[in-house]
Amino acid sequence: MSEVLTQAKPNDKERNKEEIIYDAIIIGGGPAGLTAGIYLSRARMSTLLIEKALPGGQAILTEIIENYPGFPLGIAGPELMQKMEEQAVQFGLKIEYGETTEVKIKEDKEDKEDKVKIVKINNKEYKTLAIILASGAEASKLGVPGEEELRGRGVSYCATCDAPFFKDQKIVVVGGGDTAIEEALYLTKFAQEVTIIHRRDRLRATKILQERVFANKKINFAWDSVVTKILGKEKVESVLVQNKKTYEEKEISCHGVFVFVGNIPNSKFLNKLIKLDEKGYILTDDNMMTSQEGIYACGDVRKKLLRQVVTACGEGATAAFTAQKYIEELKGVSYK
Ligand code: NAP
Repeated sequence: MSEVLTQAKPNDKERNKEEIIYDAIIIGGGPAGLTAGIYLSRARMSTLLIEKALPGGQAILTEIIENYPGFPLGIAGPELMQKMEEQAVQFGLKIEYGETTEVKIKEDKEDKEDKVKIVKINNKEYKTLAIILASGAEASKLGVPGEEELRGRGVSYCATCDAPFFKDQKIVVVGGGDTAIEEALYLTKFAQEVTIIHRRDRLRATKILQERVFANKKINFAWDSVVTKILGKEKVESVLVQNKKTYEEKEISCHGVFVFVGNIPNSKFLNKLIKLDEKGYILTDDNMMTSQEGIYACGDVRKKLLRQVVTACGEGATAAFTAQKYIEELKGVSYK
């Protein structure tokens, strides 16, 4: 390890083995990971956060966040996340960029008490006493012909990133959840017309978003319908849509296809180390502890009911506190 931590003090293991063993490594820099970073850094735990892209997670793709308390007029996703990052770094959180490819428990046959865990990124190994998994989730794909081929050439998973490319054009949005409806509303600022294609006859999105979407004159709906194919030579030209009730097929001409059909958790790198549900979400107890001692999970990668910035932050704080108690116990620190 070339860099020296600014606030982190070497722990006992470090001194013995002359290598850095972090108190905690957080994997993922969305609201859950950054909140865990704020709490652990304030508790003066030497903490490294590993982020594969830009800190902020999926929240930076959100134009405006209206339901994070404290901002009556809402706050732009990137702004909120930048503030969280600044807050964490100010308390001493260290951030390293790279994709985590493996997490493992160090096997030391001579030292059964060795609780060191190993996190691998960019072919480097980092050692730590505790791990907080906050790796979030990413957009699900439709899995239809044309989707992969025309990705970036009309097929998109991020309205905030790509909407300006579709000024005065016709767009379809696939999905009926909060993301699809929020993004469809945002897209109307640029597009001439937005058709929402949803597989049922009612939306899943929260009521206030439904009120707005039904009142928006640029938006129309293809209910009970699924996209079966995305067509186009160089760029998207149309989508084939099938009505699930009548089996009728129709072609909708469009320049853009925005897909918002849910998320898949970023948990593949865990490779069976931790117990997951059938969809790959991490199972934890109420204190964010996973099936492995010293490894915690929070945010969208965790199996739970409500996926919001505010719940991610709450879980990040809980995971950090539980991890802190575990680390202090390992180091023989007592509150008594
Ligand atoms: P979601 O709530 O899982 O909704 C996914 C939507 O896509 C559903 O309407 C679903 O239809 C549809 N769908 C799923 N698979 C499909 C397929 N293969 N083909 C066609 N349609 C398909 O996902 P999300 O909207 O991305 O939201 C994820 C989480 O983040 C949710 O908990 C949401 O509340 C939260 N979120 C919150 C906010 C906010 O509070 N402002 C904003 C964005 C997201 P069905 O309805 O038939 O299942």
